[in-house]
Amino acid sequence: MSQRTSGPSGATRVAGLIGYPARYSRSPGLHEAAYRALDIDATYVVFPVLPKYVAAAVEAVRALDLLGASVTLPHKAAVIPFLDGLAPEAGRLGAVNTIVRDGERLIGHNTDGVGFVGSLIAAQVDLRSKRCMVVGAGGAARAVIVALADAGAKELVVVNRSIERARQAAAMTSVGSVGSFDQVAGMDIVVNATPVGMQGEHGGLLPLPVDQLHAGQVVVDLVYEPLRTPLLVAATARGARAITGDGMLICQAAKQIQLWTGRQPPLAAMYKAFQ
Ligand code: NAP
Repeated sequence: MSQRTSGPSGATRVAGLIGYPARYSRSPGLHEAAYRALDIDATYVVFPVLPKYVAAAVEAVRALDLLGASVTLPHKAAVIPFLDGLAPEAGRLGAVNTIVRDGERLIGHNTDGVGFVGSLIAAQVDLRSKRCMVVGAGGAARAVIVALADAGAKELVVVNRSIERARQAAAMTSVGSVGSFDQVAGMDIVVNATPVGMQGEHGGLLPLPVDQLHAGQVVVDLVYEPLRTPLLVAATARGARAITGDGMLICQAAKQIQLWTGRQPPLAAMYKAFQ
């Protein structure tokens, strides 16, 4: 595959996002920037798939010879019965965000955890033996919890609105426990994995009390719209290091492209496309 200079040709490969509504996804810009940087003749489009069409959408990845597919809410678990196999991290999380073709077989992967850790490594954050708090217990939080534990975190405190979901998420790793916001000051790394702070319904809100944040801590927000969330603004004001959510989005997309093409896209081109 080499890069096209004008519109699509018969050789152009198509990748896409299966989600709903998904129309506001930032993924097309990131993927297309990576394809250009790698000189690959491919394009990436959003497929808004109603829940009743999930099986047909997965089958289309095979039938239409797609380069690969990303999967987002609400279909990350729903696609699983229609795949031919799961990579270990997708099986552990019970969630697929990437469909990879292996000949005619379709394998489900999950690149969220790799993306999260990759974004912290890119920011030169050492995760070994760290005390971490994850706020939230949904799909993103679970990927983060497993990835932090695998990266060597010493302690993983989960705080969530629904306690039962917090218990289930904490139980995914031997270093996990359900905790409370009283423990914020004792943490090395604090991660917001809820939508609180995201523009719209949750805009302007804080997902945790910020008065315990202090210098020496790393505060990560998975929300990337806006990039400087109220949590990160408060963390910076209190001397903590703030890490924005674009890094995870970019690193998980880069891993998808690597799985589809065998090539590692330059992250700098993707960061530039996100701005
Ligand atoms: P999800 O599965 O729907 O989980 C949402 C989580 O947030 C749940 O734990 C939920 O608590 C909690 N929550 C929702 N509204 C809340 C509120 N008003 N107050 C307190 N807690 C609330 O969603 P997800 O896929 O995990 O995504 C979570 C966030 O991460 C979203 O903003 C998403 O955009 C972001 N994200 C970013 C990236 C990235 O690459 N940067 C990747 C994935 C996700 P309950 O369990 O009590 O309902």
